[in-house]
Amino acid sequence: MTRPPRPSTVAARAGTPEPSPGGVPLVEAPSLASVDSFPDLADLDRVMAAGRSGYRRYGNPSVHRLEEALVGLEGGGLDEPLCRVTSSGQAALLLALSTLVQPGRRRVVLLRPCYGGSESLIAGPLAAFGVEPVVVDLPPPGEVAHQLDGLSGLLSPAVACVVAETIGNPLLGVLDLPALTALCRSAGVATVIDNTFATPFLLRPLEMGADLVFHSLSKQLSGHADVLGGAVVVRAGHLAAGRLDAHSRSLGAVMAPFDAFLSLRGLRTAGLRTERGAASAVVLARLAAAHPAVAAVHYPGSRGPEEEALAARLLPRGRGSMVAIDLGARERADALLGALPGVRLAPSLGDVATTVSHPGVSSHRNLRPAERRALGIGDGLLRFSVGIEDTDDLAAELGAALDAVLGTMGPANPRRSRGA
Ligand code: PLP
Repeated sequence: MTRPPRPSTVAARAGTPEPSPGGVPLVEAPSLASVDSFPDLADLDRVMAAGRSGYRRYGNPSVHRLEEALVGLEGGGLDEPLCRVTSSGQAALLLALSTLVQPGRRRVVLLRPCYGGSESLIAGPLAAFGVEPVVVDLPPPGEVAHQLDGLSGLLSPAVACVVAETIGNPLLGVLDLPALTALCRSAGVATVIDNTFATPFLLRPLEMGADLVFHSLSKQLSGHADVLGGAVVVRAGHLAAGRLDAHSRSLGAVMAPFDAFLSLRGLRTAGLRTERGAASAVVLARLAAAHPAVAAVHYPGSRGPEEEALAARLLPRGRGSMVAIDLGARERADALLGALPGVRLAPSLGDVATTVSHPGVSSHRNLRPAERRALGIGDGLLRFSVGIEDTDDLAAELGAALDAVLGTMGPANPRRSRGA
């Protein structure tokens, strides 16, 4: 093959040991020991001098296998980036920021809407450590031409980085990533991109000029709701790459080996799950958009021709497995949940099975109600994470549930275009 293999091929083959005479297991068992033992002081001294320690906060074979897989996935054809996995997505953001914030460069600009926990981390504990948070609200997802207008005047040598999501949580707006990275680069500011919703199967931020990428591995990449984890991937040669390993050791927010084993096992099917989830999510978005019980549908590219063109350019392989449906009021959202017994209410995403969350009650409850309203995160908003169930089954379940809401509560007042 002349071109590099696609991400789903890389993922399916990740972590398998090289064959050797006499045979080796096709998959390796997790390496659970927290420390190695050594025959004598000279041997320990030799290992320490080589930059290793035998103590597994400094590295673990199961963890390294996962990190190598993620480098292959996020790195694409780029010069080998560096990856460290962490105990959660939050820890990944903490680790990423620790490599960038320094005296004289303490400002961290966060683009909203985004996961509420990212804002809580930066505005809470990190602000207490001297980080200066600056929050910039993006315009509604349909207004792509002016997406970064609020940011340009804020970039200066005091800014350590801009943090943004490729597909925003929870309204699924598409970030004009090439425009963002070009703007930040011209101002000498690093970009820290949360690629949790898009996944490297659909979009690779480093290829679009990003400096650092991070993930919650607790979601689609591990994919079975049985792991908490995160990852940071840094462009080769970036100043943050030189600090990543040392900061990972010092912060100690490392991933446990069994979680790394489970994450890698999940990662190997993540391409297929992402493909199926994205294919079904489009169907559900269209179905909901045409239903009179629904006030608004949020899906990447669904809010007018500008966003559609941006989504088509940046996400040609699919627009992700998330779709958000606004029923217009909390009681109506509650009624829909009650009519969907097969879909679990769970404040997360990325499981094999479809789940649904209510951002106002969970991921974005740290925002004041007025802030939520201003961002378009209504009390009737439900965010679906679409799993690998049969698409027709999911559509039939959602259609019947929306009919039930319509039957008992009547039509919604459309907020914006219901087009999806
Ligand atoms: N980024 C996004 C987009 C998320 O949705 C989440 C969690 O929901 C996180 C980061 C944080 O990840 P974790 O819960 O693994 O710490």
